[in-house]
Amino acid sequence: MRLSKFPLHTAKETPADAEVVSHQLMLRAGYIRKLGAGLYSWLPLGLRTLGKISQIVREEMNAAGALELLMPAVQPAELWQESGRWGVMGDEMLRFKDRHKNDFCYGPTHEEVICHHVKQDFRSYKQLPVNFYQIQTKFRDERRPRFGVMRAREFLMKDAYSFHLDTADLEREYYNMRGAYTRIFTRIGADFRVVKADSGNIGGAMSEEFHILAGSGEDLLAVAEGGTYAANVEAAETRPSGQPRAAASAALEKVSTPGQKTCEQVSKFMNVPLTGKVKLLVVKAAGGGLIGIALRGDHELNEIKAAKHPKIASPFEMAKPEDVQKAFGCEVGYLGPVGCPIPVIADHAAVEFADFVCGANDNDHHYKGANWGRDCAEPETADLRQVCEGDPSPDGKGVIKFYRGIEGGHIFQLGQKYTKAMSLSVLDAQGQAVTPEMGCYGIGVSRMAAAVIEQSHDANGIIWPDAIAPFRVLICPIGMDKSAAVKEAAESLYAALTQAGIEAALDDRGQRPGAMFADADLIGIPHRVVIGDKGLANAQFEYKHRRAASAEMIPATAEAVLEK
Ligand code: ATP
Ligand code: MG
Ligand code: MG
Ligand code: MG
Repeated sequence: MRLSKFPLHTAKETPADAEVVSHQLMLRAGYIRKLGAGLYSWLPLGLRTLGKISQIVREEMNAAGALELLMPAVQPAELWQESGRWGVMGDEMLRFKDRHKNDFCYGPTHEEVICHHVKQDFRSYKQLPVNFYQIQTKFRDERRPRFGVMRAREFLMKDAYSFHLDTADLEREYYNMRGAYTRIFTRIGADFRVVKADSGNIGGAMSEEFHILAGSGEDLLAVAEGGTYAANVEAAETRPSGQPRAAASAALEKVSTPGQKTCEQVSKFMNVPLTGKVKLLVVKAAGGGLIGIALRGDHELNEIKAAKHPKIASPFEMAKPEDVQKAFGCEVGYLGPVGCPIPVIADHAAVEFADFVCGANDNDHHYKGANWGRDCAEPETADLRQVCEGDPSPDGKGVIKFYRGIEGGHIFQLGQKYTKAMSLSVLDAQGQAVTPEMGCYGIGVSRMAAAVIEQSHDANGIIWPDAIAPFRVLICPIGMDKSAAVKEAAESLYAALTQAGIEAALDDRGQRPGAMFADADLIGIPHRVVIGDKGLANAQFEYKHRRAASAEMIPATAEAVLEK
């Protein structure tokens, strides 16, 4: 590609509303442009990377035996009513009516649609197993779209759905997909971990997430050093004692609160003066126990006090943010289980949680003074979590260390949740009707691009792994318009690389070297070849890998460049 015909839209300034480095760099380097909250266009440069990620995913899915299809983004409500999810998806699902006043949604996921098709076409056990996948646009009306394409509302997902005669075959395919995902994440060049996960509202028994490790990750992972245990803390096993850690328990005040049940009692334990606009919300947690959250209606979040039951495993059946909003007259962004990012008031996006005081409820006791702190990984935070940093791993092998991760993929053994609800059945060898077992497997294709940047950048810009760079090599001729030798060398290198199947870009815009190199670093092309009269006099090109501290001289031949 000639950059004179492939305009770059780079900028020096860091966009004000971009919080994380990948979002800043994708905007600055001209990969994406914002259209609205959580809505992004992919410019030609960005689309090349998105296409590379899609292609790696496609190749590995095909190699694993999955079949590509394409389903509509718009889905009729009937399917969701049939599965029972129309009522439970909440505001994350974008719903609308067509001209005939029929209800539709823009698909946040496709379990219902694929079940509908399999039901139409599959009759016999001989047709199973099967695994269908698509790479397609999803819409989820995220409460807090942020971090650019990382948590967008409209985004590109690879979703796959498999159907099996029995659980053993489902398990086999699950591990087949787990292998394919491992190859995908490896090829993309990501440093990742596979962790035990919570199945969320997709449902089912066994599930694991593929996390790209990055400090900006929204999830906290408990990974055993010197062992194999790894879990999203949301899904981590309870520590054996179920009690706060000995080291920190001295700082915790244990208040005896026999039979604590009522709103009044919880409010008393939490020591919240219920005056003026202050209100208290008490939420029943899954498995019993109460979670009380008190906050002031006037948005002073450091007044929030909360109590949670440390013994209850995730997921908490937390208050819906809408309900909290209604109760307190202020907007609450997110309420999660212990160890998660804490409620965020929408118009106070970056609230300091340093003096955020919370407590923990135990049976007939309340712990005061257990503070989550600003960062979930702080030691005092860990006291309320099921798994703590430094603990022995629940399986006894290794010691727990916490990492932050970006969820790039998620695989599930769904079982019969959807196939039953949607009355799928096939006849087995004996002519008996059986309900197929189902698995589903997702990858956030667009999220992956941003997640890789979170891991791979420096002060000057993006550093793409070769596999997903928009171009592999950037040729930067110095004074191409003045020097026939430079022009000739640049053109012939460009032709030779293209001939060899290497995606090269030729910076023939006539920019000064400084500007040319700044763009090269910002957009993150892994290999840069500078061609100037000086080097050519010694029959040399200047070569620099984007990651290298300095450039080196190499013979002025395409072969020497190809060796890099
Ligand atoms: P998250 O916990 O980040 O909200 P999820 O668990 O809701 O993700 P899944 O239903 O497991 O997401 O969807 C499969 C994949 O789609 C995720 O692993 C993630 O990579 C991607 N994904 C989900 N939501 C978004 C989003 N809002 N923007 C971009 N990618 C997303
Ligand atoms: Mg989600
Ligand atoms: Mg998740
Ligand atoms: Mg998930």
